[in-house]
Amino acid sequence: MLVNGSQAKFLFNAAREGHWAIGAFNIMDYITGEAVISAAEELDVPVCLQLMDGYNPEAPEGSRMMMTESQQHNLDTFLINRSKDATVPVILHLDHCPTFAGCMRGLKRGLASLMLDASQLPFDENAAMVKKVVEAAHPCGVIVEGEIGHVGGHPNSHGAIYTNVEDAVRFEEATGCDLTAVSIGTVHGYYATEPVLNYERIAEIREVTKNPLVMHGSSGLREDQFRDAIKAGISKVNFATYIQIAGGAAQLELAKQLIADDKRAMMMAFNTAGLNAAKDYLKMHMTIFGTQKVTF
Ligand SMILES: [Zn+2]
Repeated sequence: MLVNGSQAKFLFNAAREGHWAIGAFNIMDYITGEAVISAAEELDVPVCLQLMDGYNPEAPEGSRMMMTESQQHNLDTFLINRSKDATVPVILHLDHCPTFAGCMRGLKRGLASLMLDASQLPFDENAAMVKKVVEAAHPCGVIVEGEIGHVGGHPNSHGAIYTNVEDAVRFEEATGCDLTAVSIGTVHGYYATEPVLNYERIAEIREVTKNPLVMHGSSGLREDQFRDAIKAGISKVNFATYIQIAGGAAQLELAKQLIADDKRAMMMAFNTAGLNAAKDYLKMHMTIFGTQKVTF
C-alpha cells in the first residue's frame, strides 16, 4: 500500500506514541527497493523508502546530478507500482533535499514526504526554507521533515553539534514541519571512531516537542544504541550505507566461490545473493527498531 502524506504522518505519530521506530532506507536502485519492501512484507510492518533528488538540473556541473530525468522517472515508476502492490504501508520520502526546487520536483513525483535540509545554515535561514516547503507541501497533503542541529558526515565532527533543546522547540513552531531530524551524536556514512549518542538530549527534546524525531546517520550503530535511542524518543531511523555492505558482502562471497570452482558468473545470481542478504539484514534491523503493524 502506497500511503499518502496524512497516512505517513499517522504512522510516524503511532511510532512516537508507542516508543518504536519506522526504518527509513535509502534507495538508489531497483534491487535495494525490492529488498526493503519485501523485508517489510515478511515482517508485516510499515516502512519508509528514501529517494533522492537525483535529477537536479540546476545543480552546478557534476555536483549533485546523479541520475538522468528518465533514470529517475523509471526508478520512481517501479517503486510507486511496487509500493501500491505491497501488503504493508510504504512511505515514499525525499531525503536530504537542499533546494526548494528539488522539493517541488518531489511533489510532482508523487512522494508523501519531503525533507528540506538547510541544517548547515543559521537557524533563521534554515527555518525560513523549511517553512516555504511546508507552505507548498501541506496544501497537497504532503508532509515535511526539517533538520535542526547538523548531522555531519565527518567522523570527527560530532560532539559540538548536539541539537539544542530550545532550538528544536522554536524550529517546530517556526516551520510547522511534521518531522524533526535532530543531531544527537551520529554521523553519515562510515564510523571511524565510536559514536557517542546523547540519549538524555533525545529524551529532553521529545519531552518538549510534538513532532516525531528522526535520527540520521544510523548505519553501523550497535543494537543497544538503536534500542536506547528509540526508547529515548527517536521515531524514524534513517539507514543507508550498511544495507549496501551486507548485500555486497554476499556478492563478494559468491564471486570467491565461483572463482574457486572455476565457474562462470551469472549476473542474476549476484542480484539474488545481494537481494537476499540485504533483506535478512533489513529484517534484523526492523526487528531491532521494534516496528509495529499499524492499521488505518
Ligand atoms: Zn541523513
